[in-house]
Amino acid sequence: MTGTEPAVSRIDTTRPHPARVYDWFLGGKDNYPVDEELGRRIMAIDEGAVRAARANRAFMQRATRALAEDGVRQFLDIGTGIPTEPNLHQIAQSVAPDARVVYVDNDPIVLAHAGALLRGTPEGVTEYVQADARDPRAILEQAAGVLDFGRPVALSLIALLHFVADEDGAHELVSTLVDALAPGSRLVLSTMTADFEPENVEKGIAAYAAGGVTLVARSRAEVAAFFAGLDLLEPGVVPVDAWRPAQAPDGPGPVSLYGAVGRKP
Ligand code: SAH
Repeated sequence: MTGTEPAVSRIDTTRPHPARVYDWFLGGKDNYPVDEELGRRIMAIDEGAVRAARANRAFMQRATRALAEDGVRQFLDIGTGIPTEPNLHQIAQSVAPDARVVYVDNDPIVLAHAGALLRGTPEGVTEYVQADARDPRAILEQAAGVLDFGRPVALSLIALLHFVADEDGAHELVSTLVDALAPGSRLVLSTMTADFEPENVEKGIAAYAAGGVTLVARSRAEVAAFFAGLDLLEPGVVPVDAWRPAQAPDGPGPVSLYGAVGRKP
């Protein structure tokens, strides 16, 4: 595990953190009153927020399982979040016990809970790296201790890119990471959109902004642009609950997150 300062001393409980608000949506316990307050404000605007968080988590699980079943044995997950079972390594290693997984997040609260991310199979490897997605070269350098970049890697950026604006280097970080991957690697991505419920999503963005968190919504075409040079796997860029669904939607209305998986030729 990387990171020297005690993580707990750097956790700011006076303002909401995206990882903790998301944890609250998922029914987790690793959040503070400021996070719950923002979560409740978002719920008042968009009752579907909890369903969207669950649908996103389920997308991560289906995509990870599909790639492990397709032979991928190495996973680089950036913007991991507070552990929520089943975590990505548990899905991957349930299919392939020898799967090697590197988790990355920049929030000290995730580092504080990283222990739960490191309990994998004896045959596999799990590692946690404290780093910022906007510094992709540092991530690649540290991940190279565990992952062989000469062989395919599944890079997952799940519910991460809506925290990184285009001006903040969203496209550069994706292209730097994808460029470093071997042919046959995959990109798994989900990110927020205002395509379906523009008013609610704009109000939600304003509520996050009031809490000091910047969020960006992207159109379907803008999400597809992250897959430039990759082959999009079926069914393309779709709401996360429509990506190879395993069951009927668990409620009415759209899920305002696009998900997609691409393969590097
Ligand atoms: N991928 C998980 C968690 C999504 S919540 C899931 O989909 O279930 C988004 C996570 O991204 C949070 O844990 C937050 O701390 C992290 N994050 C946001 N901006 C980041 C950045 N610039 N670098 C690294 N992690 C970031």
